[in-house]
Amino acid sequence: MKTLVINCGSSSLKYQLIDMNTENSLVQGLVERIGIEGSILTQKVEGKDKYVIEVNMHNHKDAIKLVLEALVNKEHGVIKSMEEISAVGHRVVHGGEKYSHSVIIDEEVIESIRDCISLAPLHNPPNIIGIEACKELMPNTPMVAVFDTAFHQTMPKEAYICPLPYELYENYGIRKYGFHGTSHMYVSQKVAKVMGKDIKDLKIVTCHLGNGCSLAAVKGGKSIDTSMGFTPLAGVMMGTRAGSIDPSVISFLVEEQGYTMSDIDELLNKKSGILGISGVSSDFRDVLSESEKGNERAKLALDIFHYKVRAQIAAYAGIMGGVDVIVFTAGIGENSIVTRKESLRGLEFLGFRIDDEKNDVRGKIQEISTEDSKVKVYLIPTNEELMIARDTVKLVKNN
Ligand code: AMP
Repeated sequence: MKTLVINCGSSSLKYQLIDMNTENSLVQGLVERIGIEGSILTQKVEGKDKYVIEVNMHNHKDAIKLVLEALVNKEHGVIKSMEEISAVGHRVVHGGEKYSHSVIIDEEVIESIRDCISLAPLHNPPNIIGIEACKELMPNTPMVAVFDTAFHQTMPKEAYICPLPYELYENYGIRKYGFHGTSHMYVSQKVAKVMGKDIKDLKIVTCHLGNGCSLAAVKGGKSIDTSMGFTPLAGVMMGTRAGSIDPSVISFLVEEQGYTMSDIDELLNKKSGILGISGVSSDFRDVLSESEKGNERAKLALDIFHYKVRAQIAAYAGIMGGVDVIVFTAGIGENSIVTRKESLRGLEFLGFRIDDEKNDVRGKIQEISTEDSKVKVYLIPTNEELMIARDTVKLVKNN
């Protein structure tokens, strides 16, 4: 059974075709600059040359059409016809309070995703466009929506209600939703499996540290708190996002310094975080290398980043009444040796010891704590696409 996983951004589209009999990814692809001059599709298949198509794509339907052509391409593709695709799994960022699990997509589901647009104005519209384009091009193929917010729907009220007038929650749905749920779910389940433990018996802190960063407290397999909030802007500092700050900074900038709300939005989402402090880049590798060369602001950006992650890990160990395992994942978590060490520095009182030799690793499953460490620490590469494909297959088979 081959499952196509689609992740639509506003001008980009990532895709994978996964053989669910083996759980092997057959193709990974990326379409960029959809609707902009210079659109490009790049497809990778193991053992084949990279396949690049540069042709203007006016919208996501054009992009998906081209993806399907690339998949069946005689020389560069991996399937003979579209009929080999048994199902499509779509990543959808916001499912609001309605979806605590993935669902088969029908008209009602599309409407509900549309209802959540005000909560995720940048993300849900391209997700819907991707779904509708696939529906048009593959009308008989079942499709499933997998929500970034779903895994966190198990949080208790004390974690998700904001300390604002309660009517704001009742009237406008203002609350913590949390994001990266598919990744937190995947790595927490995977680490339990790797440890040979029942996830029901574990208290896990998962650290998804990439361009966007969030941590989650996963107790007994359920998310009981997470650092992103009403939007993916809250929580720890990120590549270009500020994370949580005192909201009075906003009224100060607007009232005293003449910023508009659109300036503020740009400032907090695109110009802050590692980029804003370092003045170098939002890319962690660039900042690491500048810091090594003695750039003080780059070093400060790293220090603040690690401080925020450290504080969040400690908080989650606190609310769970301890921690059995800490997991690092995503671009920075999987690759930055320094980050894994520095994010845990000073937290040894929780009961772990890092093995520096084992920590000298990138991008593969590895325990990085010492053998006698009471609390375990792991690097687990995330695989949101596989999680989406698994949910898709499960739902389509049961339908
Ligand atoms: P993601 O959003 O998960 O793709 O992660 C992107 C982030 O991971 C970027 O800030 C990259 O600089 C960072 N990253 C990727 N490879 C490395 C590496 N080898 N060392 C440090 N950071 C890395």
